[in-house]
Amino acid sequence: MGKKIQLYLLLILFSINIYGNEISNMRFGTDRVVFDIDSKEKINPLINYDEQNNLLFIEFENMQKNKNLENKKINGNYITKIEFFSMENITDLFVSLRPNIKYDTLILKNPTRFVIKFEKERKKKKIVIDAGHGGKDPGAIGYRKIHEKDLVLKFAKKLKTKLKNKYDILLTRDTDKFITLKNRSKIANDFGADLFISLHMNANRDKTASGTEVFYYSRKSSNYAKKIAKFENSVNEKYGIKEDYTELIVNDIFYHINQEKSMKLASSIEERIVNSTKFRKRGILGANFAVLRGSQAPAVLIELAFISNKSDAKKVSTEWYQNKMIDSIEKAINESFN
Ligand SMILES: [Zn+2]
Repeated sequence: MGKKIQLYLLLILFSINIYGNEISNMRFGTDRVVFDIDSKEKINPLINYDEQNNLLFIEFENMQKNKNLENKKINGNYITKIEFFSMENITDLFVSLRPNIKYDTLILKNPTRFVIKFEKERKKKKIVIDAGHGGKDPGAIGYRKIHEKDLVLKFAKKLKTKLKNKYDILLTRDTDKFITLKNRSKIANDFGADLFISLHMNANRDKTASGTEVFYYSRKSSNYAKKIAKFENSVNEKYGIKEDYTELIVNDIFYHINQEKSMKLASSIEERIVNSTKFRKRGILGANFAVLRGSQAPAVLIELAFISNKSDAKKVSTEWYQNKMIDSIEKAINESFN
C-alpha cells in the first residue's frame, strides 16, 4: 500500500471515530456540570488544576466530542467558561473557575457520566487567644501563690491545640512576657481576627467568692463589673503606661454588632462551663475593659474561676477541669460561627 493510501485510511478511521467513545452532551446543575459520555470502556481522564489561573484541565484519551458541543461562556457562581479541544483521539476540556472555588470530580456509570461538582472554599475563621497578664505583671495571685498569668497561659495553649485544625489561631503571647493592653487588641486587629478571647482568673479578698463569669465590652456597666474591669485595667496604671485608644475605637455600628455577638458568645461560654464543671454561675456582664475596647471583632473576657478560692483554685489546676472548660469554650465558639 502506498503511503498516501495509508494516510487516507487513517483519516477515514478517525473521522468515523473507531473508538466509539464520545462526549455526547453537557448539562448544568446548580453546583455541577455533567458530561454524558457514550463509552463502552471505563473512562479514566487525567485531571489537573492550575491554581494561578483557576483553570481546571481534563484530558480524555480515546474520546471524541459530539460536534454539537460548543465552547460556552457562563456567568455562574462557580465557573465562567468551558472550552473543548479535540485532537485526533484526545479531547481536552478546560473549565475556568471563579476564585476560591473548590471542585470535585465523579465518574458515574449506566449511563456513563463525568461530573464536576463545585463548592465555595470556606476560609478558616481567625481567632486570637489572649492569655491575660504576663512578664512583670503576674495578674492575680491566689491560693498557694498560683499566678494568674501562668494558669491562663496554660489554658491559652490548650485552647489553641483544641481549635487549631478548624481555625487560624494566634496567641497574643505564648511565653511569660509582658504586653500592654492596647497592644493585645492591636495584635488581634492586625491579624484580622474574627474573634478575640481573653483568658483570666478572678480573685477576691473574700476567699469564699467563687465561680465563672464572662465579660463583653460595654461602655456602661454595673458597679461590680466596674470593679473587675478596674483590676484588669490597672496594669497600665501600675506600670506607668499611657495608651491612647482613639485610633482603635470602633464606630458605633461595629460596637453594636460586635456587642450582640459578644454577648451571645459570653452567655454560651458561661452556660457550658458551668454545666460541665458545676462551678458557680456568676453570669455574664458588660464592662469597659481596656483589652476588649480596641477589638474590631466580637470579643469576650473569661474569668475562668477564682484562684483566691481554695476549691476553685484546686480544681482549675487539674487537667480534668481544664479540659472540661476548654471543651466548653470550643463548643461555644463553634456555635457562634454557625
Ligand atoms: Zn486578669
